[in-house]
Amino acid sequence: MSRRREIYEGKAKILYEGPEQGTLIQYFKDDATAFNNQKHDVLDGKGVLNNRISEHIMILLDKMGVPNHFIRRLNMREQLIRAVEIIPVEVVVRTIAAGTICKRLGLDEGSTLPRSIVEFYYKSDPLGDPMVSEEHITAFGWASPAEIDEMMSMALRVNDFLTGLFAGIGIQLIDFKLEFGRHYEEETMRVILADEISPDSCRLWDIKTNEKLDKDRFRRDLGGVVEAYQDVAQRLGIMPESSPTKRRGPVLVSDKSKSES
Ligand code: UDP
Repeated sequence: MSRRREIYEGKAKILYEGPEQGTLIQYFKDDATAFNNQKHDVLDGKGVLNNRISEHIMILLDKMGVPNHFIRRLNMREQLIRAVEIIPVEVVVRTIAAGTICKRLGLDEGSTLPRSIVEFYYKSDPLGDPMVSEEHITAFGWASPAEIDEMMSMALRVNDFLTGLFAGIGIQLIDFKLEFGRHYEEETMRVILADEISPDSCRLWDIKTNEKLDKDRFRRDLGGVVEAYQDVAQRLGIMPESSPTKRRGPVLVSDKSKSES
């Protein structure tokens, strides 16, 4: 068996060298981590679901003019992507208060923000991804002012699109995180959306019940993480009711004479 060259292993994904110049293979693992790696577990089937959900969203975003790294899905866990130079800034868009903003600003979880807010975090595991301002980003040369403008405008377009997409299937988009990269083609460079969009990187609540359908189920030990991701995939119409991730044990065939007695 030919062994592919591994380029990078992250917490939830592995990147391998792609079949053609300028491409990579993104492999989705079942690993879940939180609190800067202090909490870790393996959730059977999560990678398969995130691969499908991210594929679905990236294809739709491309159609509405948000350029991204997705080329095509290769199999249950892998997708072919464009190789980019990752900008070391995580872009978070929030519409409803949840997570770190509640602590930082003393807000109640679930309260609606005055408007959607874009935040930046410096991608650094040793530092725990600290929040940074545009000043830090330009002063340290992580991205230029023009690149920040592009990331912000794409992030807000993604927010508008995803808010509508999820509202249509009974889910409220609370917040999400994006990553961007520089894609070089011949003499030109453009900033495109990279990484993944999935319940690992978004907060998604059921509109009627406020039930969490995202990684907070793992962060807060609520259980049913994979089932919640599967619910999202099914509502998006991309997962058959009985999928390989929804494995059940053998079903006892009922004995008619007994059950009727
Ligand atoms: N997020 C993420 N990766 C990170 C940090 C945050 O995908 O390293 C996502 C998170 O799932 C949520 C949004 O970004 O949808 C905002 O996260 P927050 O700042 O509240 O931090 P968290 O509570 O995730 O630590």
